[in-house]
Amino acid sequence: MYRGGFLRLHRDVVSLPDGSQTAREYVRHPGAVGMVALTADGKVVLERQYRYPLRREFVEIPAGKLEPGEPHLDTAKRELLEETGYVAARWTRLGVVHNAIGYSDEAIELWLATGLEAREARLDQGEFLEVFTLPFDEVLAMAADGRISDVKTIIGMFWASGRR
Ligand SMILES: [Mg+2]
Repeated sequence: MYRGGFLRLHRDVVSLPDGSQTAREYVRHPGAVGMVALTADGKVVLERQYRYPLRREFVEIPAGKLEPGEPHLDTAKRELLEETGYVAARWTRLGVVHNAIGYSDEAIELWLATGLEAREARLDQGEFLEVFTLPFDEVLAMAADGRISDVKTIIGMFWASGRR
């Protein structure tokens, strides 16, 4: 139905188990990565970013979309550096979340990044965000009580807490 800059909107007619037909609308997404990046003193690198669809700011972990054919870990390294200025010595894959299964094939692979070293951030054009850090347990509490509602951040924090 629509092919945009990175999303494609489809409407398929599908057969149901009882033989009837109906339509399914869904969005094809290129896939993304999210990074739980921990500083040497146990803090989580976070971003405060205005998210247009909901017309408000969110606190979230760094994340980014895959370029065509790009391996997930390469995207993770590239986006962490671009958005936050950090490079990480150690990368651990935490898993994958399907965050919108009712209407999209979007998959976000989550990574734990440790051994951080500060370099210089280089945001994409049109990208505006504030980078800050908070203690791990405080971020975990925010994910548990709903102050953080971004799904990749909530799942990333709980998976990372299981690896610590
Ligand atoms: Mg991003």
